[in-house]
Amino acid sequence: MTSTELQAEDIRWDLTDLCESADAARTQWKALVAHAQDLASRYRGRVAQLSAHEMRELLDETDELEQELSRLHVYSYLRLSMAATDVEANDLATFSRERVADIENMLVFLGLEWIATDDDKAEELLASEELAPYEHKLRVERREKPYVLTEPEEQALNARRPMVSAWQALHDRHVSTLEVPFDAGEGVEPHTISRLLSYFYRPDRDIRVRAVTALFEGLEPRADVLAACYDALVGDRLTTDRLRGYAHPMQPTNLDNELDDETVDAMMGATEEAYPIAHRWFTAKAKLLGLDKLELADQYAPIGEARAFTWPEAVDVVDASFNRFSPRLAEIFRSCIDAGHVDVLPRNGKSGGAYCSSVSKSILPYVLMNFTGRLRDVSTLAHEFGHATHNVVALEAQTYRSHRTGIPMAEVPSTFAQSIADDYLLEIENDPGTRAALAVDRLENAFAAIYRQTVLARFEQRAYGVRGDGRSLGTERLNELWLEENRRYYGDALTLPEGYALGWSYIPHFIHVRFYTYAYSFAQLVALLLYRRFREDPESFAPKYLDLLAAGGSASPADLVAPFGLDLRSTDTWREAFTELDAFRVEAETLSTPPSQ
Ligand SMILES: [Zn+2]
Repeated sequence: MTSTELQAEDIRWDLTDLCESADAARTQWKALVAHAQDLASRYRGRVAQLSAHEMRELLDETDELEQELSRLHVYSYLRLSMAATDVEANDLATFSRERVADIENMLVFLGLEWIATDDDKAEELLASEELAPYEHKLRVERREKPYVLTEPEEQALNARRPMVSAWQALHDRHVSTLEVPFDAGEGVEPHTISRLLSYFYRPDRDIRVRAVTALFEGLEPRADVLAACYDALVGDRLTTDRLRGYAHPMQPTNLDNELDDETVDAMMGATEEAYPIAHRWFTAKAKLLGLDKLELADQYAPIGEARAFTWPEAVDVVDASFNRFSPRLAEIFRSCIDAGHVDVLPRNGKSGGAYCSSVSKSILPYVLMNFTGRLRDVSTLAHEFGHATHNVVALEAQTYRSHRTGIPMAEVPSTFAQSIADDYLLEIENDPGTRAALAVDRLENAFAAIYRQTVLARFEQRAYGVRGDGRSLGTERLNELWLEENRRYYGDALTLPEGYALGWSYIPHFIHVRFYTYAYSFAQLVALLLYRRFREDPESFAPKYLDLLAAGGSASPADLVAPFGLDLRSTDTWREAFTELDAFRVEAETLSTPPSQ
């Protein structure tokens, strides 16, 4: 083992900033529950009568309480992330989840009473200087008002929630227990869906093609049950939408995302208009792979062979690229590393993937990595620290409540950070294989986030439309809708195998959070637009970008990006993002084409 590998192995979370022990956490949870109880006894039934000054006191106190809750919750969650089977960690996680639910229940009256406050009184409060730090979030909460029913009606709707969860659980179980016999070179073994999907990225074409066939053949016997789950859930959502008075099935998601219908329509329309960019890449990729035409199994076939990266190299790339953009971001990055807030290597019992947990105004965020020296891990490190720097800068300027954004804006700084790290690496890296792999990864990740997520959202719109017309969502019908929307994307540039008709069947978002996916298209496209602005005028861009980070969730996405001259309702704005994406395509083609002899 080399010294750099050892160095990485030593880098584990130091959780003492959060809490000293599980026992201490339990004691502190109890104190926090008592505090919440006390707060509730002082304010319950009084929210609508509070003066602006009293309201401010209430919100400040709640803000402190929520940060304490966050600190203890993150502590128990991180302990569990490090040791999934550890008994103490599991006990503490269960204990913590229950306390979170207790406290949320105790404080639920705050939001309900605020929504119920009459409009004149609410406007008077919102106009006061004292409530300015909370104004936007308070306004957003009240947007739900027209769709909230009477208390007995809400109770009746709540009472059927276990039924809804049962359909979701049935779907989850049918997907997670599916095991398909497959031979990946070491004899036939049972394979889960995610293991089969991982073969789509293999250089070996035979494995890719067989994995695609095996996945869809494996789903076939379960399709009818999976369709029945979806049909039941869509039917239920349409019924409750009607009772609440929503205008269309996407409206609750758009409200949550603080995006108006016009913006979402303009974005999705411009995305579909730009499908030919993908077609051009698929054609070029077929040529690079020596194929007449690309098949689904070749979509994510690797191009270019990337070299390995050590942990110190990855840290240098992020540090230097952040520093070049804005020294403040690099400073936050290094403080987190120095404070022991990054856990680097994969270990037995540690959770997979990567994430960033924001904690509170006084504690730096924590980042989980599973660093194995791949090029992709370098991008992931930049991505997670895009989140971390956003959290820190926003928490400095905002209240805890106002620092947080919805998914559409939350994924913008992470995507942007990845872009500046990727660009820096493309500049300094000499190895042609690594440069090609980086440019292709960047392009294909953007396709997956922008195009595929839009296809998914369109499929959902069609499905809700069909169900709303009184037709059921059986396997055949879902297959048809799925293929139609996918064919619009892939066009003639990529061949879809027959089995792909079942591609809708295992996607969890359709079952758990409707129209969840377009927020990722949004974030990726806004990050591209910001990147374009940055390249046009790097000098004036960085300070404005730091203001955007500092604003956190204190304004709507439209207002947050307005200083960059972006009008999100205009199709032309979104078209501009695709000009930038097309430049990624050209770069990927150039770097992956070997120089002619
Ligand atoms: Zn992210």
